[in-house]
Amino acid sequence: ERTLHWLRNDLRLADNPALSAAAQAGPVLCLYILDTNPARRPLGGASRWWLSRSLRALGEALAQKAGRLLLLEGDPAELIPRIASMAGIGLVTWNRRYEAEAIALDRKLKEELSGGGIDVRSFNSHLLNEPWQVATTTGQPMKVFTPYWRAALRKGEPAAPIPAPARIEALPLPDSLEALAVSLSDLGLQPRKPDWTAGMRAEWEPGERGAATRLGDFLGGALAGYADGRDRPDRESTSRLSPHLRFGEIGPRQIWHALHQARATGEAAGSAQDAEKFLSEIGWREFSYHLLFHNPELATRNHDERFDRFPWQPDPAALRRWQRGETGIPLVDAGMRELWATGWMHNRVRMVAASFLIKHLLQDWRAGEAWFWDTLVDADPANNAASWQWVAGSGADASPYFRIFNPATQGETHDPYGAYVGKWVPELAGLSGQDIHQPWKASEKARREAGVRIGETYPAPLVDLAFGRQRALEAFAAIRSG
Ligand code: FAD
Repeated sequence: ERTLHWLRNDLRLADNPALSAAAQAGPVLCLYILDTNPARRPLGGASRWWLSRSLRALGEALAQKAGRLLLLEGDPAELIPRIASMAGIGLVTWNRRYEAEAIALDRKLKEELSGGGIDVRSFNSHLLNEPWQVATTTGQPMKVFTPYWRAALRKGEPAAPIPAPARIEALPLPDSLEALAVSLSDLGLQPRKPDWTAGMRAEWEPGERGAATRLGDFLGGALAGYADGRDRPDRESTSRLSPHLRFGEIGPRQIWHALHQARATGEAAGSAQDAEKFLSEIGWREFSYHLLFHNPELATRNHDERFDRFPWQPDPAALRRWQRGETGIPLVDAGMRELWATGWMHNRVRMVAASFLIKHLLQDWRAGEAWFWDTLVDADPANNAASWQWVAGSGADASPYFRIFNPATQGETHDPYGAYVGKWVPELAGLSGQDIHQPWKASEKARREAGVRIGETYPAPLVDLAFGRQRALEAFAAIRSG
């Protein structure tokens, strides 16, 4: 049977159930569409860069299997039925998505295609459990992570990953369809001048092979001590699998099984506790998708409605300084510059930078969410929105509102030698100990020796930390009692 596999967030050959089903059914048209319908949130800049690399890697991998990747640009609602009819398709396959607009589109397409006598089969490549498969005893969505993850774990081991198909024979295309194909460079995913992607190119290898390398390196390396080490931004302490997971270059079932296998053979470096902690982070990803599925407006609407009355104080200049890493708070600035340079930021620093924006600067969490959406290579519709609401205190199972990170103390605890700040804020690298995390408190002498002049070589703090904390507590108290 002539088959179309529509690729979305599943840019891999292995453990791709929809692609495997397509390859088994007959010659396959593998299709990626750059969706230009504004009803679906456009990708951010860093994600577009990642996608261009990932599609190139996928095209090469498909070619090695006698296959081929067709690229198009436009609205899938219109393109999929048209392409299916032009290519004489009998079966369409895809792996599921979880944003409300994507679900609506997929549902509509399924109806339309089926109505025209074309089979549609959808699969799960992205999650250990579908969002609706984990529920309370009365069948309700879960609102708290720990019971969610316990219930998910009770479901037992996930299905074993499916190997990549041996052959993915390309379906010959009519000329009329060839004429619609867009080349990767014409998709315009590459940044226009000036090219700001050098740091990302140095850090990442998008694609399935890069994902597998990261996983192997992590299992044999940073997994040892992960349970504590994961909070240390000054070390390579986590897997950095997030962008690969985001684009489906690797899936959670593969990670789960690779981890258990590596532990069984002794290849994995960590303890049982490290492994459990790591899997529970994958669990947070699952939980975020559970929340997104049951709360379609997760990225735009306060889960806790009391926050609709929150007295945000929109301040474009302050937001701008946060975005540029010029707040005068070293750990926050280091994180924001790491983000800008590499498209990624360590989780601990994400929490501190987000908390500072929301609480010390009283900026609406949605402004931060949007900036992360544009600049993270792992910008994820579920994880980003759920994490911002978590930090704000407006989300399900959120960090309580009165938990206001002190970014200076956070720096001392999690970057004890100041190596992380020194790397990303080099103008402070000459300071040591506590001084590098609160240079405004350093002695004249220490600052002079380090060549630091507050307000000249490095900004004065955008807000006094104690004052900002008190102001945030008062703002939160107002909505709590109201
Ligand atoms: P590891 O520690 O190696 O964890 C393995 C995987 O588990 C990650 O790749 C990720 O898929 C998942 N994971 C880990 N921590 C979390 C978490 N707290 N919530 C959900 N999933 C998690 N993560 C994203 O993938 N995309 C985002 O857009 C995103 N935005 C965030 C925004 C804020 C304000 C905060 C505080 C966190 C955000 N996170 C996001 C979660 C987390 O910071 C990243 O997943 C993590 O830093 C990725 O690095 P890693 O792959 O080395 O993580």
